[in-house]
Amino acid sequence: MDHTTERKRMIVPAITLEHLPTHRLGIAIIGSTGSIGRQTLQVIDQHPERFTVVSLASGSISPLLAQQVSTYRPLIVAADSHAEHDGLIDRPVLFGEEGLIEATTHPEIDIVVVASSGHAAIIPTARAIEAGKTIALANKEAIVCAGELIVDLALRHNVQIRPVDSEHSAIWQALGLSDGRDISRLILTASGGPFRETPIEELSRVTAEQALSHPTWSMGGKITIDSATMMNKGLELIEAHWLFGMSYDALDVVIHPESIVHSIVEFSDFSQVAQLSLPDMRLPIQYALTYPRHASSPCRRLSLADAGTLRFFEPDIVRFPSLRLAREAGYAGQTYPTVLSVADEVAVKAFMDGAIRFVDIAEVVERALTIHQPWPLADFDALADADAWGRQAAEQIVTLIAMEPSGSS
Ligand code: MG
Repeated sequence: MDHTTERKRMIVPAITLEHLPTHRLGIAIIGSTGSIGRQTLQVIDQHPERFTVVSLASGSISPLLAQQVSTYRPLIVAADSHAEHDGLIDRPVLFGEEGLIEATTHPEIDIVVVASSGHAAIIPTARAIEAGKTIALANKEAIVCAGELIVDLALRHNVQIRPVDSEHSAIWQALGLSDGRDISRLILTASGGPFRETPIEELSRVTAEQALSHPTWSMGGKITIDSATMMNKGLELIEAHWLFGMSYDALDVVIHPESIVHSIVEFSDFSQVAQLSLPDMRLPIQYALTYPRHASSPCRRLSLADAGTLRFFEPDIVRFPSLRLAREAGYAGQTYPTVLSVADEVAVKAFMDGAIRFVDIAEVVERALTIHQPWPLADFDALADADAWGRQAAEQIVTLIAMEPSGSS
């Protein structure tokens, strides 16, 4: 176990009204066609006097990307793959990692919204930090897998990392003027997903379609399955550890099916401060852009009287083994969180493809972590090696599980 990670250092900015922007902020959106990317553009539409779109990047060229380009006329358009280009976009498009880096480091960019999920965003995020750009971070992998590298870079370059995830945004907002020294605990809320009350013996038979119907949030496919297994909350624990410099002992999860209390900060005197709103990602996205101000919003207003009852439960670790696995991987540090993340990515895909059962997702992750021999996360090459190892191991485990008689795990 590596305990050197248990340092208290917050990389989210503390509230100050000193440096309010005096010009329209240039925004780069990595993953502009995904759920967070589209909602970021809705927030920008709400405040045309505050923001201008400098670059848009997407996994592939699509009619939606073409439409965004013609609406926002960004200086830079980047895509991961050349597929289906066919002159859909009437301007030069940059491709691959180089293109993504250009799209995050251009001099006119003030804030990079890292809205894509997956590992491809990690290096461009690091380059953006080196270029001094403020980061609005929705991508989980950059912090979960590369936490110590990204935090070091952000501290060294005096760069703000503003959380976009609703839980971390809630904590950030609830911190007020705290620099972290007077916090005793962070409590992350979780909806519990669609299977919170499904009898455990039925979990092996649930379909991808059932897992994809989240009760309160509308999100992308991978994160919705991660919410159903609660791996999503586990990844968020690791994120909270790095973003707020908290030890894992001081991070708790509580199930809150209504998704109205988005997380809670407990201070040394046991005062608990929470952030409440209707579940709408545009609120944390907008706060990451308008910080330290709250601005008028496209979101609906919360009525607590209409909400009526807010419920809270202890999470069921037997039902949700992914939560335990993530906590263990986070605590063990080194390359374990990367293996956790990539094994989960492989397993979720295999589940969506019908190759393994819902309950096998955590099984794949657990077996990969069990056989992993970790190494220190010295640099991004060490990270890439862990990524490759985890992917290959998880794919082999998926093949093994798919051949086992069902119900064996
Ligand atoms: Mg979240």
